[in-house]
Amino acid sequence: MALRIDAADPGVCRGCGAHVPSDFRRVHGDEDQLAYRCPGCDSWVRICEGSAAGKDVKRGERF
Ligand SMILES: [Zn+2]
Repeated sequence: MALRIDAADPGVCRGCGAHVPSDFRRVHGDEDQLAYRCPGCDSWVRICEGSAAGKDVKRGERF
């Protein structure tokens, strides 16, 4: 089990490269269970709006 960040690894956030649990990816990710955002790089408000599934969420931008 490698600990390095791998952009091709489906188990990491596309936004920041942090590992995201499979449960999070299943619930909040896209249809391929890929997470585009995670609690480490986005707010829960935006994640619940679909940001983790790759949707373009306009409101609540953190940065
Ligand atoms: Zn992230």
